[in-house]
Amino acid sequence: MSGRPTTDERREDLIRRLARVREAIARACAAAGRDVAEVDLLAVTKTIPAADVAILVELGLTDFGENRAQEAAEKVGEVARLAPGAAPRWFFVGGLQRNKARVVAPWVTRVESVDSARLADALDTQVRRAVEQGEREGPLPVLLQYSVDGDPARGGVARDGLAALAAHVSGLDGLRLDGLMAVAPLGADPDRAFADVAAAASALRDDHPSARVLSAGMSGDLDVAIRHGSTCVRVGTALVGERRLASR
Ligand SMILES: *Cc1c(COP(=O)(O)O)cnc(C)c1O
Repeated sequence: MSGRPTTDERREDLIRRLARVREAIARACAAAGRDVAEVDLLAVTKTIPAADVAILVELGLTDFGENRAQEAAEKVGEVARLAPGAAPRWFFVGGLQRNKARVVAPWVTRVESVDSARLADALDTQVRRAVEQGEREGPLPVLLQYSVDGDPARGGVARDGLAALAAHVSGLDGLRLDGLMAVAPLGADPDRAFADVAAAASALRDDHPSARVLSAGMSGDLDVAIRHGSTCVRVGTALVGERRLASR
């Protein structure tokens, strides 16, 4: 293949990929005895251009995940221009620096990567500011990012810090604690990893019954995550391919 595919080729490609991802989710739900309606599909669009996101919007997807604040902010604006009238929802799924809380506060639907009280405080401050200025409505739903292996370099809060962070977040007016997000560690057995994640999510719900979201599972392990109770799979590669935006 040479050069960029045409918009029509890309559209056909995305239609096929989306059908395969939906089938994989349906199969995993059937195998786990769960209703497909319990599992949301979050399309991780971090590496693809706004034009592709606009196609996914046209194909009926509503929820998109990004992991870099600046790239996301630009894409949010471009998609709004390319798909006027659509109301895409933007989820933040990557490490967020505290000084970027202000960049995401006006448009982000949910931040899934809260792993410290300081980040929670920065988001709380910027969300309350954005609400005051009429840039957004209501508190920001957040998930705590749980680290299965406790390796601080890869983000996430370890098991022994989870309860304290949850208590802190639930005391902030600008945030709403909705649940847990986790990534299976590279090289780990996903079955064991997601069993551990499910136990952490269950412990969180014991203290905070409304924190029911479990964001777990990506292209390669969504079936295992669904078996362990995931309510939201974050799918990038399987849905959008390896196509990369030029690095900025
Ligand atoms: C990139 C990314 C995904 C999607 O991963 P794929 O393997 O491409 O499906 C999911 N979650 C997070 C946090 C990511 O950074």
